[in-house]
Amino acid sequence: MHEEVENRKSPPKRPFIFYAVIAMIVIMLLNAWVFPSMLQKTVVEVGYDQFLEMIDDGEVRQVAYDEYDGEYVFLAENEYGTGIYKTGIWPEDGQRLLQQLLNHPDIEFSAAIPTQADPLVTFVVSWILPMVFFFLIGELFYRWMRKKMNGMPGGMGNAMSFGKSGAKVYVADAKTGVTFNDVAGQDEAKEALKEVVDFLHQPEKYASIGAKLPKGVLLVGPPGTGKTLLANAVAGEAGVPFFSISGSEFVEMFVGMGAAKVRDLFKQANEKAPCIVFIDEIDAIGQKRNSGSLGGNDEREQTLNQLLAEMDGFDGQKGVVMLAATNRPESLDPALLRPGRFDRRVPVELPDLQGREAILRVHARNVRVEKEIDWGAIARATAGASGAELANMVNEAALRAVRMGRQAVSQRDLEESVETVIAGAQRKSAVVSDSEKRIVAYHEIGHALVAARQSHSAPVTKITIVPRTSGALGYTMQVEEGERMLMSRREILNKIATLTGGRSAEELVFGEDSMTTGASNDIEQATKLARAMITRYGMTGEFDMVALETVQNQYLGGDTSLACSADTAARIDNQVVETVKTAHEKARQILRENEPKLHRLAAYLLEKETITGEEFMQILND
Ligand code: ADP
Ligand code: MG
Ligand code: ZN
Repeated sequence: MHEEVENRKSPPKRPFIFYAVIAMIVIMLLNAWVFPSMLQKTVVEVGYDQFLEMIDDGEVRQVAYDEYDGEYVFLAENEYGTGIYKTGIWPEDGQRLLQQLLNHPDIEFSAAIPTQADPLVTFVVSWILPMVFFFLIGELFYRWMRKKMNGMPGGMGNAMSFGKSGAKVYVADAKTGVTFNDVAGQDEAKEALKEVVDFLHQPEKYASIGAKLPKGVLLVGPPGTGKTLLANAVAGEAGVPFFSISGSEFVEMFVGMGAAKVRDLFKQANEKAPCIVFIDEIDAIGQKRNSGSLGGNDEREQTLNQLLAEMDGFDGQKGVVMLAATNRPESLDPALLRPGRFDRRVPVELPDLQGREAILRVHARNVRVEKEIDWGAIARATAGASGAELANMVNEAALRAVRMGRQAVSQRDLEESVETVIAGAQRKSAVVSDSEKRIVAYHEIGHALVAARQSHSAPVTKITIVPRTSGALGYTMQVEEGERMLMSRREILNKIATLTGGRSAEELVFGEDSMTTGASNDIEQATKLARAMITRYGMTGEFDMVALETVQNQYLGGDTSLACSADTAARIDNQVVETVKTAHEKARQILRENEPKLHRLAAYLLEKETITGEEFMQILND
């Protein structure tokens, strides 16, 4: 797929510890065998008799007297080679022997015969060699660390590593295999990125009018909406080198390494211009620098500073375009977002109804599906799902088709997979007692009845009491007919009432004391809605249109923080309780009025375990 420009050695398959053990063994062997014989020559001790014999045989070549030990050390040569010997002598024989040795024509009398090795050799062996060893081990360890770091996930495909920056580069004619056709929905984002691609193809067209391309394009949006995918598509379409690196790859263990990587990346990019540099998950290095905070992250700040400096340094006309993606735009350093840096922000939002259908169709290209599939219905049932979740649903449906031994994915598979992704897989093995099943049945019918008896609430499409792996014992599915952008106050209130409907039914049928924990999720959702109504949507008379809460992470869960006095906070709490109470009372009222239907429907659900919206409406209306 990708053209390899530089062939790297494949990373070591064995762990570092393997090499460390080898090195230890080598050192031990050297110590035991090689070093002693190198540093210390073997000296053989012989008797005085033998010494005299060797002199007579003419083997002795050199003799020295060791005064300190009172011994003779001598060098002799025989059929086994040259060796060093030593011997003690009889003192009374000393004078005579000395005379004999001095007069002997073949024997040289020298001051000392070194039994120690050459001092140079000693120095090399005992100082230089260990140092070389430790250096090699250190080098090995360093390389191993680097490989490990570079091998971390975050790259695309099997692109090769490029230089020290660890960025992967796609050369002009290499393809990521992804094009804009693989990205469904997200038309605005595609439009903006197509302009970038077009500029890189025909810079003269822009230059003749004097239009400058933005230096940096920042893709922002919730996780799984296709930001990385879009960047890959740009690489596939661009026809220019494409450097891709993940923000976290800049975060190094040692201070200064991240900055060096940035420098290296831009050096490469400048050489290869026109080209595109893509930094995924840029929030890893682009976070706000906070001054004065004790123990601030020096390394990250240095890396960010380097990035800012490099972005100023390169010349937009040269055709280096920066692309970055994040799902935490509010945490980015403002310096990164100012004109001249990432000055164009492209939102990549959750797909709308049309977008969802398109995404489902894109992913359905890779699986075999039956002819008659109502993609619109699946798209309607998946409001709020991201592209990644939709892709997952199609795959789940395909897996289910295989499990059922079918040749193609059916509508039923898709519907079931939607539920699997939303509520978890069915837990057929879970044993739910009959009495609990009854409670769950009443609870779910309670939700459905309250929803159906109010105007402005989404129609019920399915009710089930088959337990799910997510822990839900049953649920009621409501699907909007079309795409909803706005919610009215009445709709929110109705929704809260519907949420309280489950518990209301339990109370009505089994009495107050028999209420169960099954409503915990309903309670959470109802409270959230009621709170948002008051603090964020300005839907109460008391607080009018005052924002009392601010959303912090709009793309990641949307945590809120209160922005009001403690006194106001207390009044908000009262209002929330009041709102939920009213809705709860309304739900009780509706159920009391429809009690016969409640019993009939619950009995029916208990028998069937899963019923459709039509069945539900039929019983309700006859
Ligand atoms: P993120 O926005 O978190 O970077 P990704 O680009 O990694 O999301 O998307 C994850 C996967 O979800 C993609 O590989 C793709 O299969 C699917 N996906 C997301 N958005 C789309 C889309 N608009 N069209 C087609 N597939 C999509
Ligand atoms: Mg991503
Ligand atoms: Zn419930």
